[in-house]
Amino acid sequence: MISQLISSESIKSVKSILREAKQVVITTHMSPDGDAVGSALGMKLFLSSLAIPAEVVYPNASPDFLKWLPGAEEAYIYDKQPEEVQALFNKADVIFVLDYNAPNRVGDLGELLVASSAQKILLDHHPHPEDFCTVTISHPELCATAELLFRFITQMGYFPELTAEMATCIYTGMMTDTGGFSYNSNSPEIYYIIAQLLSKGIDKDSIYRRVNNTYSEARMRLKGLMLETMKTYPSSHATLMVLTQQQQKTFHMQKGDSEGFVNMPLAMKGMKMSCLMRESEEGYVKISLRSVGDIPVNQMSNKYFNGGGHNNAAGGEFRGTLEECIKNFEEALEEYKPLLTRKNA
Ligand code: 5GP
Ligand code: MN
Repeated sequence: MISQLISSESIKSVKSILREAKQVVITTHMSPDGDAVGSALGMKLFLSSLAIPAEVVYPNASPDFLKWLPGAEEAYIYDKQPEEVQALFNKADVIFVLDYNAPNRVGDLGELLVASSAQKILLDHHPHPEDFCTVTISHPELCATAELLFRFITQMGYFPELTAEMATCIYTGMMTDTGGFSYNSNSPEIYYIIAQLLSKGIDKDSIYRRVNNTYSEARMRLKGLMLETMKTYPSSHATLMVLTQQQQKTFHMQKGDSEGFVNMPLAMKGMKMSCLMRESEEGYVKISLRSVGDIPVNQMSNKYFNGGGHNNAAGGEFRGTLEECIKNFEEALEEYKPLLTRKNA
């Protein structure tokens, strides 16, 4: 058995909202990752099994390595289909908010979201959700929103209806948000849930391969370049990798190609923190931060990079040049040096 984390009031409210639902729209954050996509597609399959019409809307496209997931091709992409998405929002009486905690995490889609009079239901594991939903089910202690989706479905009483396809989406979210269960994944209940998902017939080995072993040659070489050009800050136990616009062009970079690169430097002995900066076309620098132990990169990201996230995995956006961004990072390193150099951190 697993603990019943979601409050019975929340379950009751959601049940009564869904009883009346005629058109549900499921939203998730910008640059959707495995947890965002897995949770959204899993939720769509779940609602469809209850005969509730539901569509998934991403603010922008998902990476190719998630396109094999059931229903992935039918998702709407706001920056490519603004009119269709607007029409969907006009019809929606219920909106799910999955894997994000504030309207600004969905870019321009946030305006439609905030303006909509639909009932909004949030399921998320990021700390400090903003107050913009009818029902807020926020559990930062969980490894993934997909884990919360599993708990949501089972606490609603629908474990028997959970299919292998739904289980595949859920497993993908949990696996990707924990780096294949290598961080943020010490809770015993995670493995109870995985056992339940396996009992539904998922092929976890194949999911791992389909998500991770899909590199193009160019992407593999880009990974090599990032390692070669990585800067180390030995006295701070930190590293920095920088991906310029020019490099992205030279290596024909596709969406999602730099996914996971930021984790690589943490494989070095004693390394505590890793940062990846990617120069975007839109004139900002996208930051990814990872840390080990008690180094809150979400706080660092919030203060220095206009972002947020989790204790050990965070990100943000910096408006300015790469040089300014690097300078900012080095200032952040100075501030966090006492934490980074603390014994047993
Ligand atoms: P990634 O490095 O994989 O892009 O993001 C890691 C985590 O950082 C995400 O799961 C998300 O919680 C958070 N994150 C990434 N980018 C942003 C951002 O621009 N703003 C905020 N608030 N959080 C972000
Ligand atoms: Mn997540």
